[in-house]
Order: sequence, then structure tokens, then C-alpha cells
Amino acid sequence: MTPSRATPEAGSARSRTVRVKAPGKINVSFSVGPLRPDGYHSVASVYLAVSLYEEVAASTTNDGEITVSLRKGSLAQEMPLDESNLAVRAARLMAELSEQPSGVHLEITKRVPIAGGMGGGSADAAATLLACDALWNAGLSREELAHLAAELGADVPFSLLGGAAIGLGVGDQLTPALAPNPLHWTLVLPDFGLSTPTVFAALDRIRIASGFEPAEPEQIDPAVLRALRAGDAEALADTLHNDLQPAATRLAPQLVDVLEQGSEYGALSTIVSGSGPTVAMLASSESHALELVDRLAEAGQHALAVHSPVHGAKIVSDLIH
Ligand code: ATP
Repeated sequence: MTPSRATPEAGSARSRTVRVKAPGKINVSFSVGPLRPDGYHSVASVYLAVSLYEEVAASTTNDGEITVSLRKGSLAQEMPLDESNLAVRAARLMAELSEQPSGVHLEITKRVPIAGGMGGGSADAAATLLACDALWNAGLSREELAHLAAELGADVPFSLLGGAAIGLGVGDQLTPALAPNPLHWTLVLPDFGLSTPTVFAALDRIRIASGFEPAEPEQIDPAVLRALRAGDAEALADTLHNDLQPAATRLAPQLVDVLEQGSEYGALSTIVSGSGPTVAMLASSESHALELVDRLAEAGQHALAVHSPVHGAKIVSDLIH
């Protein structure tokens, strides 16, 4: 995108702001293999990008620093504002690769719940990679950006790609999947978070206690891919699967009530998203998803309707001011 010029005030130093939107995700299928020697698990997952977006506005500054803030009105208040922020880490990686990086301030509009199992921090990192690539004219290809994304976290490459995809390895080895028709979901957003490593550790404990030894997850149930390709919500409902769900419900037993509300209120199927605690309910249409939102709101839940698949990280504006 060519930057457009707003009229600068006489004598003021010009700044440039690139604004990027990147989606949160749900996993419609999530199989977890054994614990590897490096402390990670191999997974076989099917990602769907949903219409709940993070937004990062990256603005050049003159102080050479990389800083971050949370935009007022964002969903969350507890995002780290130091070097541990995934968006800051993404900007730092890009700065190392750019010939003349300026300072940058990242203003994040958070809509995806923090530690919600929807890859919100990963979406911030993906958006920042794209924004800094434009801001500093790094000229990286999508493939090079995907490579950097994988260094930042397992879910970052998918937020860059968007759509629907199979994720192998730790989730970062992506193959796009066909999903030409929209699917409608109701998300129940939690008012608490679950740490992803804690949920994986709980799954390991459950498996050890029951003597279950998982095999390497090597492929995806073809029924999931057929249902996505056909845009058949009923068929997809029969295949929703998440190995992490028992661990998430063990750590947060209140999720069991939310899952039961899904079937009581007529969702086609209900699943914990990734490591939770966000719960995704599959609906048969947009109006069905909105009906579920109303029922859940009456029951005191924070719910919203989204659709999938949607595009990956995308520049929405590029302004010099
Ligand atoms: P995933 O499903 O990818 O494992 P998640 O969606 O459950 O992750 P995130 O919201 O991405 O969780 O954040 C997990 C942790 O990472 C948070 O507890 C937070 O302290 C830290 N973090 C770092 N950067 C960010 C960011 N930009 N937004 C949110 N959390 C961040």
C-alpha cells in the first residue's frame, strides 16, 4: 500500500503510522502427541481464523525506542508493556533485519481475550511483523515473514496466513485448507485466563495417571477437512475435537457449565478453543449464532457472534502525518 499524506502542520516532524488487523483463531481439531525432549508437544491441529481482530497501529518515533501501549477501550487491561510483549519482540526482530529502523510505538487495540486460547498475543505479533515490514521498507516476502513468525511462537504464522489451515509440528508447519463457505460461531469470552503451558502440563498429568501413551499425531481426520470444504456445519459439528479440553476443564471446572449451556441452548456442538478458557459454539447460521448470544447473555455470559474463515494479517491504512 502506498502511504497517503494527511496535511502535516507547518514545521512539525513527520511521522508515519501503519495500521494492521490480524485475526484471532479457534482450533476445530486439536490432537496432542507425547511430550518431546525440548519440552514442547507435537500437535496436529486445524486452525480457523475468526472475525475477532487485534489491531496494531505502528508509528515511527525519533527516540530509537520500541514501545507499546494498550488503546483505551480495549477488552483487556493486563497486557504486559515490557520486553515480554510479543508485539515488542516482533518489532525487535524486524529492527534487526531492517537497514534503517526508526523508533516505533505500537498501539494495540485488544479484542481477543488475553490467555484465552485464541492466539491474541500471536495476532499482535503477526500484525507487528507486517506493520514494521512496511514502516521500515524491509521488503520481506510472506515466506520470510512466516519464518520470523515461527521464531516468535507456534500460533504466529497462522495469524499471518489466516483462512483455514492444518498445523503440524508445534502448530507452526502450515498447510492451507479449503473452506470456501462461511461458518458461524458464538464465542463465550472468559473473565479469567489459562496459561497454555499449564494446560499442557495438566494434560500430561492426566495421561500419566491413566497410563495413556499418546502416539505422534501425524494426520488430520479427513472428515474435518471434508466438512470445511463443503461448509457443512452439521458435519463439522460431529468432528469437533480438542485433546486439551479435559485439561482445561480440570483447571477451570466452571467451563463444564458453559459447555452444557451450549447443548442446552441448541448449539450444533461446543468446544474449548485451544488451551481455553474461551468456548466456541458452532451455529447453523448467523441468526442462530445471534440467538445463542442472546440466550447466553441472559444467563450472564459475555458472548459474541463471529464468522470464519477470515483473512490473515492485513494492512488497513498507511498514513504520513
Ligand atoms: P495461545 O492460544 O496462542 O497459546 P493465548 O491466546 O491463550 O495464546 P495470549 O493472549 O496470546 O494467550 O497471551 C498469553 C500470555 O502471553 C499472556 O498471559 C501475557 O502475559 C503474554 N503476552 C505477551 N504479549 C502479549 C500480547 N501482545 N497480548 C496478550 N498477551 C501477551
